[in-house]
Amino acid sequence: MSEGIVTASYVGATILFILALGGLSNQETARRGNLYGIVGMTIALIATIAGVTGNMGILVVGLLLGGTIGLVLAKRVQMTEMPELVAMLHSLVGLAAVLVGFANFMDPERLSHYSGIELTIHDVETYLGILIGAVTFSGSIIAFGKLSGKIGGNPMILPARHWLNLGLLIISIWLCGMFVDQSAAGGGTMPLLIMTAVALLFGIHMVMAIGGADMPVVVSMLNSYSGWAASATGFMLSNDLLIVTGALVGSSGAILSYIMCRAMNRKFLAVIAGGFGTTTGGGGASVEEQGEVIALQANEVAALLTESKEVMIIPGYGMAVAQAQHIVNEITKALRAKKINVRFGIHPVAGRMPGHMNVLLAEAKVPYDIVFEMDEINDDFPDIDVSIVIGANDIVNPSAQTDPDSPIAGMPVMEPWKGGTTIVLKRGMATGYAGVQNPLFFKENTRMLFGDAKSSLDEVFKNL
Ligand code: NDP
Repeated sequence: MSEGIVTASYVGATILFILALGGLSNQETARRGNLYGIVGMTIALIATIAGVTGNMGILVVGLLLGGTIGLVLAKRVQMTEMPELVAMLHSLVGLAAVLVGFANFMDPERLSHYSGIELTIHDVETYLGILIGAVTFSGSIIAFGKLSGKIGGNPMILPARHWLNLGLLIISIWLCGMFVDQSAAGGGTMPLLIMTAVALLFGIHMVMAIGGADMPVVVSMLNSYSGWAASATGFMLSNDLLIVTGALVGSSGAILSYIMCRAMNRKFLAVIAGGFGTTTGGGGASVEEQGEVIALQANEVAALLTESKEVMIIPGYGMAVAQAQHIVNEITKALRAKKINVRFGIHPVAGRMPGHMNVLLAEAKVPYDIVFEMDEINDDFPDIDVSIVIGANDIVNPSAQTDPDSPIAGMPVMEPWKGGTTIVLKRGMATGYAGVQNPLFFKENTRMLFGDAKSSLDEVFKNL
């Protein structure tokens, strides 16, 4: 393929990626956005492969191997395990950036290709690529561990952690100078290796220091880092498409992190510095039960729903676990047929990944126009007769507003207790992701429907 065609394909792919991001910003256009992304990536892959002049055999083996692993993983993964898969994929982007960086550094022709200021720029690109890649790699692995429950959710707070971070940063900058100096003379391996170790440690420390309830920000932040790592790799390889695509991922991830922080009432820098969620167990944040709960049967819930005029459904992580979205849609249809106004209230960090609930509800074909963001609907609770909380916990926890010692203190939450009756569907009295007890369950106007959300809702539907 001629260089002109490759460049034109890269431009085409870039435009498709931008259209994909535009499409993904809205539920109704998300499907189209996905399609643009797939076509763009296919064009990018074909153009890149066609532009390769080296050993095609190795490339094909790599493609087949990577492609097969990806396919098997994607087929096996449950919807509830998606965040773990995403964290794992971020770690691979980081690892790729590190490996490409070292390969680039070890290229025997490097010193004959570049000299003077060009060599310095190239070395700094290599250094930054490895640095961001290593932070992304180790941070994502820890995020994977925390999301899958293999590593505890509580933040690990080392003494003087901010000084430690600052120290690691200063060491990295100092090593960069040393690397650039030594590289021109044919050396530089040592500072590069030490920096990689420092960056790996920094990634581990950064994510370990973040408390359970702040994990959404970490996931989107690592998403952003993986983009910048890809972009840095693009600079190393002088590949414009990789630079632009990485920058798109990096900046959209950064914007998402900002949105998540705003949704959780956190300061971005404070989350990165870690330490939120440290007070678990303090004040009212204990996991001890705070009174008696009132349990109902499915037929009683059905009766309550039938008698109401305004119903609010608040889905959470448990709906994803139970795969209850389809029966939720059936119940919604049945209630709307009885002229009951049903709306959905979606908290920005409900579930385990951004947009988790919207994806599930869209899959079950719940109409978009009755699905509202928390900000749009939180003031309407006083007019609601019955709220059904389906497998949600942290996002409806009033202690976020009342207990300054709670790990989720300050996080905006849905406020069903301000309405008529709240029905909470969950299997037992287990806590949610942040590991704190929820006073909502013990309120006077709250009723519990215990059991797997799907089985419980099947029963409710039968009774309706
Ligand atoms: P939570 O994790 O707070 O609570 C989920 C509840 O669902 C649990 O209390 C559990 O109780 C119940 N549950 C689990 N399985 C079932 C089932 N089969 N049937 C019925 N109930 C079930 O979820 P929320 O959505 O309320 O909050 C999300 C939390 O996850 C927040 O803390 C957020 O910060 C965090 N997070 C969010 C991310 C995101 O991007 N959205 C990413 C990472 C973390 P029981 O076991 O008793 O049934």
